[in-house]
Amino acid sequence: MLFQFSEEERLIQKTVRDFARRELAAVADISNRDGVFRDDIIKGLSALGLMGITIPEEYGGVNFGTFSLAVALEEISRICPSTAVAVSVHNSLANHIVLKYGSEELKAKYLPRMASGEAIGVYALTEPDAGSDVSAIRMSAVRKGHEYVLNGAKIFISTGDKAGVVIVIARTDPGSRTRGLTAFLVEPGFPGFSVGKVEHKMGLKASTTVELVFEDCRVPSANVLGEEGMGMQIALGSLDGGRIGIASQALGIAQTALDEAVLFGRERTQFGKRLVDFQMTQAKIADMATNVDAARLLVYRAARMRDAGENCSKEASMAKLFASRIANAAVYDSMQIHGGVGYTEEFRIERFFRDARVTEIYEGTSEIQRIVIARKVLEEYEQMYPV
Ligand SMILES: Cc1cc2nc3c(=O)[nH]c(=O)nc-3n(C[C@H](O)[C@H](O)[C@H](O)COP(=O)(O)OP(=O)(O)OC[C@H]3O[C@@H](n4cnc5c(N)ncnc54)[C@H](O)[C@@H]3O)c2cc1C
Repeated sequence: MLFQFSEEERLIQKTVRDFARRELAAVADISNRDGVFRDDIIKGLSALGLMGITIPEEYGGVNFGTFSLAVALEEISRICPSTAVAVSVHNSLANHIVLKYGSEELKAKYLPRMASGEAIGVYALTEPDAGSDVSAIRMSAVRKGHEYVLNGAKIFISTGDKAGVVIVIARTDPGSRTRGLTAFLVEPGFPGFSVGKVEHKMGLKASTTVELVFEDCRVPSANVLGEEGMGMQIALGSLDGGRIGIASQALGIAQTALDEAVLFGRERTQFGKRLVDFQMTQAKIADMATNVDAARLLVYRAARMRDAGENCSKEASMAKLFASRIANAAVYDSMQIHGGVGYTEEFRIERFFRDARVTEIYEGTSEIQRIVIARKVLEEYEQMYPV
């Protein structure tokens, strides 16, 4: 059954839920208030196998699938969406790309370190002039003997200053918009690599977001992922998994918004009644609960399809589009139910309100998800009803 958990998946859900409620909850409010990325939390998650959750055992991973990762990310996000973005990018983008496109040497060298959490993987695609439009990437990679020399900057890179492995998409052929990009595995220790501007964001404060600067950065040609010219395919193809990850993050945020609304609404009384006894509050709770369930079903479907090796671009985009939208609606309504105290840092909903916003922006904005979905739907109609 699509939505039935295996014993293994139940165990992952319970293990991550326990860790999140015990270890992560103890530090999340403070680390988000102070803008501190907690290495010890990543170590704790690594000990549970989370940093190598989809990596085969021969490379030190636990070899579970996208579904397990989605379930784990929801549990982490219910407590700390900042932690979830680091775990999501590491697994669904960096680990995935090295596993799928790395040579045997690269896999043997890097995956065990990534699976153990020793090397955090990050994904560097965005540039000042290339956000939604990946084909506008300018960062150059010029081959010189057994090396490529990279020049340019990437911006908004999640966990970029904590990285052990950076997946970089750069331009090897200025003449071709689509076949002109190549993916590289870069170590922060390579000459010419540095961390630039640190962003001060609205939310996700316990996750760092930085600029990465490449000045004559020398990368061995053996560190090309796939082949030269495959960068666009690798970058866009891998986003399916990334989008399921962010949809799971949004789902966790929405679930917390609902939880907090109900718990608060049972405690607070006005006009001699609990807030949850007012029909207008109940209508908000009913909408939130329905949306959370619908989002979860979309996430689970996309994850199961990905694990089955099916093309799930449309379904991953639907899950991300819907989950991020209902997460933002849920934090809005939950804050409304909290009233004035919900607008203060005393209550968790204030943090989740800020954390929700970016889920409609990164790993493809909602507008880009709609483009992906509409293109696929129109293709399907073209096949069903050719004109
Ligand atoms: C906290 C955070 C973390 C991030 N982490 C990473 C990371 O780890 N790695 C990475 O590479 N990037 C990362 N990003 C970058 C993120 O993926 C981009 O911000 C996102 O893809 C949008 O690009 P942009 O900001 O350049 O906006 P733009 O592409 O300039 O878009 C601006 C607006 O125009 C709309 N728009 C653009 N094109 C169209 C169109 N064809 N039709 C209709 N509307 C359109 C967009 O939907 C959006 O509303 C991160 C961003 C943030 C804020």
